Amino acid sequence: MKKRICPECGEEYTGRSDKKFCSSPCRAGHHNRKNAEDNSFQRSINNILKHNRNVLAELNPDGKANVRKDRLIDRGFKFRYFTNQYRTKNDTLYHFCYDYGYRVEKADSDWVFLIKRQEYVE
Ligand SMILES: [Zn+2]
Repeated sequence: MKKRICPECGEEYTGRSDKKFCSSPCRAGHHNRKNAEDNSFQRSINNILKHNRNVLAELNPDGKANVRKDRLIDRGFKFRYFTNQYRTKNDTLYHFCYDYGYRVEKADSDWVFLIKRQEYVE
């Protein structure tokens, strides 16, 4: 049997070729850490989305608002993060962060139009 190196503890071990770790504690430790890393990545994305949503809600207390992009950016809004997009029949594209959305009039526009979703849209 070939000697191999355990990716968790660095020890040499022998065993069947499908055995990837020296021991079950090393296997469990490896998977636990992997899960924790995955969870922390998901949590950081979720936090960005929730923050974006709260910025939109703060700037749009009445359900509709025209605001300068700067006001979103000043509050740490990240335009690359959104939960979904919605295109109307008139070909207007909205980006949503959960229940709050916005559209940018033109790519070079300083203004965004904010809306609040009244109900779920496919
Ligand atoms: Zn090990």
